[in-house]
Amino acid sequence: MDVENKQVKSYKKIVVLGGDGFCGWPTSLYLSNLGHDVVIIDNLSRRNIDNELEAESLTPIQPMGIRLTAWEEVSEKKIGFYNIDIAVEYDELLQIINKEQPNVIVHFAEQRSAPYSMKSPKHKRYTVNNNLNATHNVLCAIVDSGFDIHLVHLGTMGVYGYGTAGMKIPEGYLDIEVQTETGERVEQQILYPTNPGSIYHMTKSQDQLLFHYYNKNDNVRITDLHQGIVWGTNTRETKLDERLINRFDYDGDYGTVLNRFLMQASIGYPITVHGTGGQTRAFIHIQDTVRCIQLAIENPPHREEKVMIFNQMTETHQINDLARLVSEITGGEVAYVSNPRKEAAENDLHVENNLFLSKGLEPVTLDEGLFQEVTDVAKKYKHRADESKIPAKSTWTKEQQPGIPRGL
Ligand code: NAD
Repeated sequence: MDVENKQVKSYKKIVVLGGDGFCGWPTSLYLSNLGHDVVIIDNLSRRNIDNELEAESLTPIQPMGIRLTAWEEVSEKKIGFYNIDIAVEYDELLQIINKEQPNVIVHFAEQRSAPYSMKSPKHKRYTVNNNLNATHNVLCAIVDSGFDIHLVHLGTMGVYGYGTAGMKIPEGYLDIEVQTETGERVEQQILYPTNPGSIYHMTKSQDQLLFHYYNKNDNVRITDLHQGIVWGTNTRETKLDERLINRFDYDGDYGTVLNRFLMQASIGYPITVHGTGGQTRAFIHIQDTVRCIQLAIENPPHREEKVMIFNQMTETHQINDLARLVSEITGGEVAYVSNPRKEAAENDLHVENNLFLSKGLEPVTLDEGLFQEVTDVAKKYKHRADESKIPAKSTWTKEQQPGIPRGL
């Protein structure tokens, strides 16, 4: 067996919703390698969106059957798989939960691209229907099943909005003081007010209310992970066999900013910065994503406890600085294009992330991981790149211009 043996003491049955995706696949392998019994549910909608956009992962991802067989050969561990649409097929979802009786459900199964969610009325409506029904069906099925299942959900830092007036964004909740009618000062804790910047982020903000309600009404144990932008491609497990490789999106809709920069620089395409590049964002490496999920699973909230919210990010950076850093490593040229999003030209971002650090997270930093990512992935697979898919063509309003460099 090639896999480093890292068995945990208490095995759990874990259902991973969206386990074929960018975060879900490496998480499924990581949890399986720890000795947990993992079952994936995924309707392969992300692969269908690739067909719709005529864009492909830069890395050659294999069909689900080949991925699962490869994992069994490499690790001697089996991962189960059901192909259902959790936003639509409620009865099937409930049946699977009743049959598998998981201790934990990890929920990645949502449409996760902000630009895709802004593409057209059809895409806005798809994102709302898919994401809200997916989350609600899972919560409803957990209660319907009668099992005490811990739900770990992947939310986003984007629900907070990006203007915090210099304050550190707390982990989900804000302590406030209100004045009663009699003039008394009373302290309260409220969900940090959301300020979504796209239809996608709006669905993630609504997810928070669904969690709040089901936690309050049915005592469902929920951990909501407000994740930063994920960078990197592979984890220790996905590197074990070429057939296990993770996806790497670089197209204008799904390519997340840092990975897109790395790929652009590797093929000699200008590193395109939207607007002034003064936007500050939160980041996390994919290896830390999977570790954070493990920490969330190992530290569930108690049955009567409120929804536990972690800020799952390790660094914040201004987009300009990232572009400069990638340019220094690769020699690529930086080009400024119009911003297809409706957002402030510049923002500060200060984030609290003590919960994961206090539980033992040792983050992969940009300085150590970036160069390796360029050589191991972006350069290795650059022959698969289709330049025509790079520009950001989805705009936030009809008046805005797509982010296409002059002359291309
Ligand atoms: P992804 O699109 O690669 O994966 C999502 C998976 O869910 C896909 O395999 C898709 O087929 C599946 N899916 C979607 N709707 C489904 C449905 N109705 N029924 C069954 N399966 C369904 O996305 P990702 O990058 O892995 O993101 C996973 C989660 O993490 C998302 O919820 C996203 O909001 C969150 N997140 C991602 C990032 C990031 O940078 N990638 C950052 C913050 C938060």
